[in-house]
Amino acid sequence: MNENRISLLDLTEEELKQELISMGEKPFRAKQIMLWLSMCVPFDEMSNLPKALREKLKERYTEGYPEVETELISRDGTRKYLLKLSDGSLIETVLMDYSYGKTICISTQVGCPMGCAFCASGIGGLKRQLSSGEMLGEVLKVNSILGEGRNIRNIVLMGTGEPLLNYENVVKFLRCIHAENSLGIAYRNISLSTCGIEPAIRRFTEEGIPLTLCLSLHSAIPEKRRKIMPVEERWSLTDSVKAMSAYMEKTGRRFILEYILLKDFNMGKEDADALKELLNGETAHINLIPMNGDTGPYSAPSEEEISRFEKMLEIRGLSFTRRRSLGQDIEGACGQLRAKYIIED
Ligand code: SF4
Repeated sequence: MNENRISLLDLTEEELKQELISMGEKPFRAKQIMLWLSMCVPFDEMSNLPKALREKLKERYTEGYPEVETELISRDGTRKYLLKLSDGSLIETVLMDYSYGKTICISTQVGCPMGCAFCASGIGGLKRQLSSGEMLGEVLKVNSILGEGRNIRNIVLMGTGEPLLNYENVVKFLRCIHAENSLGIAYRNISLSTCGIEPAIRRFTEEGIPLTLCLSLHSAIPEKRRKIMPVEERWSLTDSVKAMSAYMEKTGRRFILEYILLKDFNMGKEDADALKELLNGETAHINLIPMNGDTGPYSAPSEEEISRFEKMLEIRGLSFTRRRSLGQDIEGACGQLRAKYIIED
């Protein structure tokens, strides 16, 4: 077997057509293959392809599907998958069941270079980038496990990794998953969360991809944010907010801020005031995310502390919702399952 086989999931339909033409095959086969790939079907079972073509495909390519190393199912229905890639790397993917449909949270890098102090994914730093096909594989694999008619409707790029530091692959993934012969997920059903890589936000604004862009804020006080998010040293909050506003203006999408609630750290009156000042009349929505478990010195706030902070935001006229904590009984927080496996290895 050829060991340099490439993954078909890494190709767009147009690229696949060109490959088929170079193999002396008809380009219309690309659509058939794309549909099989979207269902995670192995080459041998692509029943409307001639046997000779299936053999050729097996010789030159892999399907590119990841293997499920572990599946954990929470009491609330959340499923967490540890997926194994072709080089043995492990990544986490989480499936959540919301009233508006099944939502998958995918990883965009193996490990993460950002080093946020409250996050287990940053432990060990960045190992490597995920290819567009590996991100696609996360969605397609989990979707195929769900079975027919139980399709994933929403995708969030909020798992391990900073998506905008894997720029080209992420943009290619977004175009592929949106494509008609893949899952055809609407851009409005995709959210991408960034720490605030200001030049990449500006570049992304020009791509014409109107998804929900979320800024991981976690504190509106620069000195405080610097303590938990080293990104603040490089790209300031004010510049990132300006870049986000330009994206919203261009796409007409809503401005979303992610704010993880950390006990005794970012839930005081001065934090609420700083949020109000930072937004300065900007119509942004804040997603409050109660810390899930403990990482380093940071821990989950009590219900009473959360309600107190919500009251402060309300008084200041800020729009917010609290995200339900899902999967708490299954290493629910970002990176915890992968971190556990790597430590135990
Ligand atoms: S919160 Fe996101 S960006 Fe920060 S270390 Fe974790 S995965 Fe990376």
